[in-house]
Amino acid sequence: MTDAVRLRWHHVLCILNHGGDSHTPAHAAHIGRIIRKIEGGAAIKITAGADDICGGFAAGDAIRCNHAMSCDRNRTLRMLDQWARADICAALQIPALQAGGDLVLKTGEIKQLRLAYAAGRARTACGACRWKDACAEMAGKNYQGARLWPDAVPGRWPFVASLLP
Ligand code: SF4
Repeated sequence: MTDAVRLRWHHVLCILNHGGDSHTPAHAAHIGRIIRKIEGGAAIKITAGADDICGGFAAGDAIRCNHAMSCDRNRTLRMLDQWARADICAALQIPALQAGGDLVLKTGEIKQLRLAYAAGRARTACGACRWKDACAEMAGKNYQGARLWPDAVPGRWPFVASLLP
């Protein structure tokens, strides 16, 4: 059985939009391996702090990620996680999970989350992120080039319908 992938809440949004780039080529490859594990059936275990994506950082990457302190103790990152948690659980219409809980993340959930992200309903955590233009662009092109389940896209008509009053 595949080991679970440990993800903090705001990184659930990041892998949703991931198109192959990251702070360094080594870190991009690390995210690619995480994505392949998820697609291979690994469970998602929510963490309260540093997760498997943080675990792929080499020395200096945290600076590129806009914070100098440890991924675990950084209060801003924890705030991002709380915002992402609220947006993700609302988009999936599930009760808010505690750290240690399992999040089901298959193609149906990815589609729902991408629909919410594309419609601007899951970006509270993204305001100050250096990748926010890239993520908005990914959503704007209906996730063409996304690495995690590239076929799990909102689609033209559901997306347009979501913007209607
Ligand atoms: S804008 Fe930043 S925090 Fe938001 S999904 Fe993209 S990479 Fe993640």
